[in-house]
Amino acid sequence: METTHSGLEPGLYIVAGPIGNLGDLTPRAAEILRLADVVAVEDTRVSARLLRHAGSDRPMVPYHDHSAEGVRARLVERMASESVALLSDAGTPLISDPGYKLVRDARAAGRKITTLPGPSAAIAALTLSGLPTDRFLFMGFLPNKAKARGDVLAEVTALRATLVFYESGPRLSESLSAMAAHLGDREAAVSREISKTFEETATGTLSALSARYADAPPKGEIVVVVGPPGEAPPASAEDADAALLEAMTRLPVSKAAGEVAKKLGLDRRTLYDRAMELKG
Ligand code: SAM
Repeated sequence: METTHSGLEPGLYIVAGPIGNLGDLTPRAAEILRLADVVAVEDTRVSARLLRHAGSDRPMVPYHDHSAEGVRARLVERMASESVALLSDAGTPLISDPGYKLVRDARAAGRKITTLPGPSAAIAALTLSGLPTDRFLFMGFLPNKAKARGDVLAEVTALRATLVFYESGPRLSESLSAMAAHLGDREAAVSREISKTFEETATGTLSALSARYADAPPKGEIVVVVGPPGEAPPASAEDADAALLEAMTRLPVSKAAGEVAKKLGLDRRTLYDRAMELKG
């Protein structure tokens, strides 16, 4: 196995950093930051602090997915013989952060790629929310303009999944009320400053949370988690009787029971017995 002078294999190392609390940098991530030949970062000033914390003196190069093609091509070239670490200002690279195009091009060039998993605000907020986690969709930041925001929300209205949005304090109340208007007034959770001193999670309906933050936009970094659309409440006995009586005006009893069972999601046999009672 070829290694660089530091003992690391050449290639790309995707390094997740903390989302606020420096203690959340994993020992393995810190080691890679100390050993990599170069660290590609969003903002050298922000990352300098983390590198100091990790005891790293490795050189940094600024990288964004919208950096000139040449910047990315040079980094991919370097990965042939050097270890390149990719680090974001916070959390996991590529998650509402640069890196996707670097990984894409590194993969196309056949470079070794590995990831050092760690914190991401989206997953952290999901775990705090108390909302279903079996199916979720990461929505990133909503667009600023009302029309574009509405279009994005309209695409997911019918989706049976928990939705995770990144937000900022000044936009929070307006975004929550747009979500209520487009998605319905669902249960939601607003988590801010996760892993920091003023960590806080507020839960409630979208409209209640929007009202709560209308006059007092919260400070700090924010994730909004919105629950899936509610299940339709189960049909009541009165609903079933009304549907059966109506169906029996058109159909024989067994067919009426079958139609209502399908429509209301109830047991056909029970409905048949009830239909006979009603008929009698
Ligand atoms: N790559 C990061 C990650 O894995 O979470 C996200 C980067 S994105 C540019 C920054 C956004 O993430 C913030 O505006 C906020 O919505 C969310 N965020 C980051 N850190 C957070 C924290 N400690 N608490 C709550 N939200 C946070």
